[in-house]
Amino acid sequence: MKIAFFSTKSYDREYFDRFNANSQHRITYFEVSLNTNTANLAKGFEAVCVFVNDKLDKETLQKISENGIRAIALRCTGYNNVDIEAAAEKHIKILRVPAYSPQAVAEHAVALILTLNRKTHKAFNRIRENNFSIEHLTGFNLYGKTVGVIGTGLIGSSFCAIMKGFGCNVIAYDVKESDKLKEKGIEYKSLDDILISSDIISLHCPLTPDTYHLIDKNSISKMKKGVMLINTSRGGLINTQDAIDALKSEKLGYLGIDVYEQESGLFFKDLSESVVHDELIGRLMTFFNVLITGHQGFFTKEALEQIATTTLNNLSDFQNNVELVNEVKI
Ligand code: NAD
Repeated sequence: MKIAFFSTKSYDREYFDRFNANSQHRITYFEVSLNTNTANLAKGFEAVCVFVNDKLDKETLQKISENGIRAIALRCTGYNNVDIEAAAEKHIKILRVPAYSPQAVAEHAVALILTLNRKTHKAFNRIRENNFSIEHLTGFNLYGKTVGVIGTGLIGSSFCAIMKGFGCNVIAYDVKESDKLKEKGIEYKSLDDILISSDIISLHCPLTPDTYHLIDKNSISKMKKGVMLINTSRGGLINTQDAIDALKSEKLGYLGIDVYEQESGLFFKDLSESVVHDELIGRLMTFFNVLITGHQGFFTKEALEQIATTTLNNLSDFQNNVELVNEVKI
């Protein structure tokens, strides 16, 4: 099948070429993201393959449909960037990678916690400059702390298990509770209880109309002073301006984010020689207790292998007209 890949980087080409070795598909890689302005690049292809910041809104879907696209293969889990109703109207199938390596993202959330807490990023720079002082590097023991997990699907469950291993008291909120996690000693509470009781809060639910700005000034007001907030899920879960206000008032003690609500246009790009006009991220970067990574939670060898094999299998299933096990339906 002829597939147009958008938003591709060197690692996408490396892994997809490796797993498409028998050339079951004819892949053309584009570096640009897919949106209404680039939709005409999809002309002559049967499917597009996209990532988290490609924007498949109604207008883009209309254009790619006119260009003959019959399937969208997402190289990711979340599909909040696709208008699934509009795709259904155009009879375009949406395929995704439901689980590639939940551990990769869970482990990255833990990396953010440990770095913010024990300040290893600061220690690294100090030691390089022969500054062996440990002044202001004080952290806190994770052992015995209360960790609140919002969303206990694949990534959230893996995160719960790791934090249990640190000896934390892990409490969770999910619209669907997991009996398996309860058996492992995870206690489900109301969302308010999570906000009120946690020393660390980690977000692992998807971005939906219900969860948009789940963390805003109202929910932050219920949190403990000095709380650590971690988001490796989707930027839109946090109202960034409210988080900035809470950092200024010291209500938020630490913020670790791998995702950002205005990340499209910034993340996955080298802008080191450009003027960045995003005032919110600029303000976030002024805080000593904020750690930002550029959507790299998924980025392990194991996850890239799984993403490539599952995406290629999804496209083969579509081509062969067999059951689409990873189809996103309304
Ligand atoms: P999942 O579907 O396995 O789990 C999501 C959980 O959230 C489910 O248990 C669901 O019931 C729960 N949920 C849904 N609505 C909720 C609500 N309103 N309140 C509380 N819980 C709710 O998904 P997953 O694989 O664990 O991934 C979670 C999210 O992580 C994805 O949606 C995606 O946005 C993000 N993600 C980020 C990266 C990264 O690189 N940073 C990589 C993969 C996924």
